Amino acid sequence: MKDYIYLDNASTTPLESEVLEAMLPYLTEYFGNANSVHSVGRRAVSGLDDARQTVADIIGANFNEIYFTSGGTESDNLAIRGAYFARGNKSKLITSSIEHPAVIQTANELKSLGAVVETVSPNAKGILSVNNYLEKGLDDAFLACMMLANNEVGTIQPVKELSNALKQSGVTIFTDAVQAVGSMDINVKELGVDMLSFSAHKFGGPKGVGVLYVKNGTKFSPQITGGHQERSRRGGTSNVAGAVGLATALKLSRKKLKEKADYLLDLRNYFIDGVMSNVQGVTLNGDRNLRLLGNANLTFSGVDGEALLYALDLKGVCASLGSACSSGTIEPSYVLKEIGLSDIDAKSTVRFSLSYNTTREEIDTAINIIADCVKNIKN
Ligand code: PLP
Repeated sequence: MKDYIYLDNASTTPLESEVLEAMLPYLTEYFGNANSVHSVGRRAVSGLDDARQTVADIIGANFNEIYFTSGGTESDNLAIRGAYFARGNKSKLITSSIEHPAVIQTANELKSLGAVVETVSPNAKGILSVNNYLEKGLDDAFLACMMLANNEVGTIQPVKELSNALKQSGVTIFTDAVQAVGSMDINVKELGVDMLSFSAHKFGGPKGVGVLYVKNGTKFSPQITGGHQERSRRGGTSNVAGAVGLATALKLSRKKLKEKADYLLDLRNYFIDGVMSNVQGVTLNGDRNLRLLGNANLTFSGVDGEALLYALDLKGVCASLGSACSSGTIEPSYVLKEIGLSDIDAKSTVRFSLSYNTTREEIDTAINIIADCVKNIKN
């Protein structure tokens, strides 16, 4: 029996039991190095190949367009650096101000190497505009980055519209889909992107394994050199169990998306409405409809978010702050500031993220606990 209510699925998710079961043989009897030619190695490579094919089939890619990595951060780095070092004489990278730090910091690094980084801001709902990307000028651009869904406010971005607008431009389009993959039906061809990243631990898979999809023909320079793994684009002994876990989790999450998307959407809206009607001065950040199924990012006016988070934790409710802790001080979230929140409101914000496994009873309990905690803090 759990003694907590886990509403922090955007941070990470528990490993599904079927995923663990699928991984175990590759951590025990099929332990081989996927590069070895003997029978033990061949068993490992067969698991890796199956995992790659499963991922490719689910996202509408080809087998040889899937690269396994150590997670979302590495995939984001690989995509951006890989495009930069293959850019030819172009120098401009267009990105947004609400990307994950794995994108923003990487773009900043490249600035110091000579890249021109143009940054697009969202509207007050946290949604990016394709026109703002176009206004930055495409002639000398080699890469446009637009996340598919934001990790804090959960807004879903017009990536398909961007790829339609950039079709003839020769600009590579990269989308960070780390938050989106467990919650949206993703097909890379329909989205029209050249590169897409995601990470297993966000949808019931293990930590430390991710994917970078790179469309065949995309200008790309390998960044992790070493062995010839991942078709020489990402050296290092393959994490076969991780890849098998990622593929199994992806399959399961697709099934749940088909069967339980309406359930999660209703539960999320029930939670938002429940908190808003039981607690005064609560606002929802981001767009009410264009958002991830499980995301509820709420500002509790006049309440210190950190104090609320600790109070909730004492009562067994796990959530996440709308701020980042750096060097011991709480900095207001740059995403919330970008959509117009004051420092004080940004510091009064908590992100709750539900999953298909969250129950109605848990949400009823959580709403009561939140209302109690806010009352206690205000008093
Ligand atoms: N991109 C986004 C949008 C994320 O939300 C995260 C993690 O929260 C990452 C990238 C980094 O992924 P990972 O934790 O697998 O490195």
